[in-house]
Amino acid sequence: MKKQHTAPEAKHQIANYFAQAAREDHATSARLVAKARTLAMKHRLKLPKELKRQYCNHCYAHFVPGKTYRVRTHEGMVVYTCFTCGACTRFSYKKQQQKKRKEKATKSSLLIRTQA
Ligand SMILES: [Zn+2]
Repeated sequence: MKKQHTAPEAKHQIANYFAQAAREDHATSARLVAKARTLAMKHRLKLPKELKRQYCNHCYAHFVPGKTYRVRTHEGMVVYTCFTCGACTRFSYKKQQQKKRKEKATKSSLLIRTQA
């Protein structure tokens, strides 16, 4: 019988799969990414943002910076283009930008208050 993981063990195993995928060849790394996703779904875990951006959402190819994907910005989105299947994955950066601007505005207003 297959060993059953608890949720924390599953999280650890998912991290291991991704670390292993970074070292393996193309086909093996895609299989490891698919395995990690299946494990996360089984335990109803959400993959962290850092891990979600490490593979192609369409063919599960592991992303190696500068080798297997291209990064461009377009209309408030970061676009990852996979070289394996040619599909694009988009991530918005507008919310982060707005948050940063708000923080900056509050910081500067605090400075003005302290100076006056
Ligand atoms: Zn792909």
